[in-house]
Amino acid sequence: MINVACPIIGWKENQLIKEVLDSGILASGKYVEQFEQSFARYSGVKFGIANVNGTASLHVALLMSGIKPGDKVITTPFSFIATSNSILFCGAKPVFVDIDPKTFNISSIGIERALEKYKNIKAVLIVHLYGLPCDMEAIIALKEKYKFVLIEDSCQAHGAEFKNKKVGSFGDAAAFSFYATKNMMTGEGGVILTNDEEADKYGRQLINHGRYGHSLHTILGYNYRLTNIAAAIGIAQLEQLENWITKRIINARKYNEAFKSLDFLKIPYIPKNCRHVFHQYTIRVSSIERNKFIKYLADNGVNSGIYYDNVLYKQPLYKRRGYGSVICEEAEKAAEEVLSLPVHPSLSENDVDKIIEVVSGYRK
Ligand SMILES: *Cc1c(COP(=O)(O)O)cnc(C)c1O
Repeated sequence: MINVACPIIGWKENQLIKEVLDSGILASGKYVEQFEQSFARYSGVKFGIANVNGTASLHVALLMSGIKPGDKVITTPFSFIATSNSILFCGAKPVFVDIDPKTFNISSIGIERALEKYKNIKAVLIVHLYGLPCDMEAIIALKEKYKFVLIEDSCQAHGAEFKNKKVGSFGDAAAFSFYATKNMMTGEGGVILTNDEEADKYGRQLINHGRYGHSLHTILGYNYRLTNIAAAIGIAQLEQLENWITKRIINARKYNEAFKSLDFLKIPYIPKNCRHVFHQYTIRVSSIERNKFIKYLADNGVNSGIYYDNVLYKQPLYKRRGYGSVICEEAEKAAEEVLSLPVHPSLSENDVDKIIEVVSGYRK
């Protein structure tokens, strides 16, 4: 069976983990610092704060950008639930804006409409879904016009670029995840990026019990610290990231070439100026076809995945919180039609050829 995700662990991860274990320094340590600096440098951002996961990174990114209880935060309903939950963690209120059906990312026209409608929007939390950057030109123009806080959920988009600039470098802060199935991983892990020195200092306090100096606790903080072991894995993984992205892009190009003439699916759209890093290779199939197609793929040795089969505001948690009447038509349609095929760098050429053969051989 060919799976949709498969972490790669090399000799260097093993070597560095052994070094950490031998050193006896298992919690915060030199690899944590080294990892956050190298990931920040890679992304073209000044400061990086390593921490336990992407969800905590989102939470801290919002807090350190000044999001307070009652604030309204625009976001997309077509994402992993951690995106909008991080807004709830702050006691703030998600305002869901529909997606652009071509890119699956939040619609910049929709953002402007919501900014006009509500007037008191504090922040916009965008998601570079599947590894494709949002329309940063339009969003930055809106930020200048309306002066909101911009946070990037970059948990699926390590190394993705808009006009040769990496995601995570556009907003006031950005969150990355190093969960085991992401484009690079530390098992569980995350990083918050920012260019703002004060925000960085505040964020560091937030992930460490609000500690200031040796024994003063000046604010309410959390224990969101990353371990030295996880950071060691991250250092080794980051060295491979560009290789792996290249492989993902090559695999995606092969699929695009092979699938573009198939009439039962739509291949991913890549806007100009974007480097899509293909955390997911996501096609659209009609809703009637999807279950049949998934079963056909599985019967022929190819696993696939649906990200996501429901919009966030329809989750029971959100319905209970008064989101029952929200409608984002394009997001709802996408939830019924998307399907992700394996595109990860551990696929062999044979695997890729087999996937192409199986998909192309589908008869309705
Ligand atoms: C993975 C992911 C997260 C959460 O990351 P964790 O490390 O699993 O907490 C948040 N947002 C998006 C879009 C993700 O894909």
